[in-house]
Amino acid sequence: MRLENKVALITGGSGGIGRETALLFAKEGAKIVVTDVNDAAGQETADEIVANGGEAFFLHSDVSKAADNEAAVAFAEEKFGKLNIIFNNAGIMHSDDDNAMTTDESIWDLTMNINAKGVFLGCKYGIPALQRAGGGSIINTASFVAILGAATPQVAYTASKGAVLALTRELAIIHARENIRVNALCPGPLRTELLMKFLNTEEKKQRRLVHIPMGRFGEAKEMAYAALFLASDESSFVTGTDFLVDGGITSAYVTPL
Ligand code: NAD
Repeated sequence: MRLENKVALITGGSGGIGRETALLFAKEGAKIVVTDVNDAAGQETADEIVANGGEAFFLHSDVSKAADNEAAVAFAEEKFGKLNIIFNNAGIMHSDDDNAMTTDESIWDLTMNINAKGVFLGCKYGIPALQRAGGGSIINTASFVAILGAATPQVAYTASKGAVLALTRELAIIHARENIRVNALCPGPLRTELLMKFLNTEEKKQRRLVHIPMGRFGEAKEMAYAALFLASDESSFVTGTDFLVDGGITSAYVTPL
């Protein structure tokens, strides 16, 4: 029960990392608000938590819209009386995201609006709630590509995740003396729908796998455990960090066997 008496808001909780994290946080005692644009799957996440004896609600919320973020925070406070943890996890990787010459402006805007502005808005409306609760933990999902660069071109995605890292650091410092911690989770390549849809050929998959010392993609659950550490009081001296959970990918210059 590492999150006993805590209330957590998790964006993008319909699938992948968000869903696994919602289930794990609930198991560890947190009350959960799951948000997403995929209503059916989001409701399933909340239903599964309730079926297992936990407390959870789903709310439709598009992270790229200010009003939706504001409503999600208000919803959490209304349902559970406070908000302690915000996991700004929702994100997209568009299949038309490529190099600077071929990436359409609309793909850039869409990616930045969800991945970068969505995190900004989650913090903008969430931080006052954490202040009301006497402090809390924010986890913003970035990616290892914000540190290393990607093996296949995806400039909008990579830039959006770089923005998340920079934003996270600055917010961590601004709120460091308010008992509010802000950290970035940097997953390595994962076997979730988001990446498998993007790496849609065996060749593309192998181009990534070759760089991972562990020789495999990560699992959403492995990110959930990292998010749990950052959400819990066990990480009470951790703020402003780029928390890499990447199977060693950023630690070595690995060449094909
Ligand atoms: P996923 O596609 O399985 O889940 C992402 C969720 O976000 C989906 O449920 C989707 O419906 C939701 N979403 C998309 N747009 C939204 C919007 N505008 N508003 C609200 N919700 C929205 O992907 P995942 O792998 O679980 O990714 C979660 C986060 O982890 C993302 O930020 C992603 O960029 C990041 N990440 C993933 C990987 C990877 O390899 N999968 C690696 C590094 C970082």
